Amino acid sequence: MQTKNEVLVNAEHRQPVLVQHFQNVIENNELAHAYLFTGATGSGKEELAMWIAMRLFCRNVQDGQPCGVCDECTRIAAHEHPDVLIVEPDGNSIKVDQVRFLKAEFTKSGVEGNQKIFIIAGAETMTASAANSLLKFLEEPSGSINAFLLASNPNLLLPTVISRTQEVEMQPLAAGELQQQFIDAGVPQHLLPLVTRLTHSPAEATDWLTDDWLGQAATSMWQWLSQLLKPDLMAFPTVATALMPLAKDRSRQRTLLDIMVAGLRDALLENIHEENFTASFPSHSKEVTDLTNGYTKNQLVEITDLGLQSKQLLERNVSFQNVMESLTLKVFDVLSPSK
Ligand SMILES: [Zn+2]
Repeated sequence: MQTKNEVLVNAEHRQPVLVQHFQNVIENNELAHAYLFTGATGSGKEELAMWIAMRLFCRNVQDGQPCGVCDECTRIAAHEHPDVLIVEPDGNSIKVDQVRFLKAEFTKSGVEGNQKIFIIAGAETMTASAANSLLKFLEEPSGSINAFLLASNPNLLLPTVISRTQEVEMQPLAAGELQQQFIDAGVPQHLLPLVTRLTHSPAEATDWLTDDWLGQAATSMWQWLSQLLKPDLMAFPTVATALMPLAKDRSRQRTLLDIMVAGLRDALLENIHEENFTASFPSHSKEVTDLTNGYTKNQLVEITDLGLQSKQLLERNVSFQNVMESLTLKVFDVLSPSK
């Protein structure tokens, strides 16, 4: 659970423009009844909704900003405020009982006319009955209740829900902020450039860190790449012994191919002495330069293309091992001295 200051700090860091926007909206008394906040995991949807809640409840608002330390702010940040309820998926979905509980809490507690807020995280996971139950709630006209539905994938929401809310899309994170989120998620420094190239989701990066999968994937893929560029026939057994154990499912196989393409991109850009590029494997830059020294730009463009095409092969259900072995053969052909 986040502490009070963290919620405010994160809201202001991740969505500075929207924080300013809602500050004005509240000052002008124009807050809508129901909002749908959309944006990737980690984009600050929940923090922004909680910032608004604190702004509405805070006892020491200064210059339009909640203080973050009064009793109201503290209880909101700790998810303990009786008039600010946060619902999250119970397992894989938000169930009708959770929406009923929310409605019951709001009907019984507090004096009529009091400000109340509810936040539904993962709103796209609402079951149909939960969504229908919520719809009735949203239709009841009440100036004192504000609803915030948060969704990473709004395409999964019922159109009837979307039509009753005002959609606000989170702004893309600044590169520095994204890096900080990856660091907070535990991504080691040397893998940051690669991870930033592969995903914008700290949750996905965290998943890759389980059992050091990402570290091993980067090491094994680099081993294969260095053998590929030599070219060294050991690249074939490396596919079977080092890469196959990491290619557990389709999603991991796709990520492995993305890592491979990132490595080939390094090779191409090092080779043409591109100055302003961020290498995905910065610790191997010197080796990449040495390995690609004797090749032409055309050869490296061609093998980068082959790398990209191999991603399409995987989507056509060619097995990961076949994709990698046939890529190895084709690249050897491009890099052979007769060319
Ligand atoms: Zn406060």
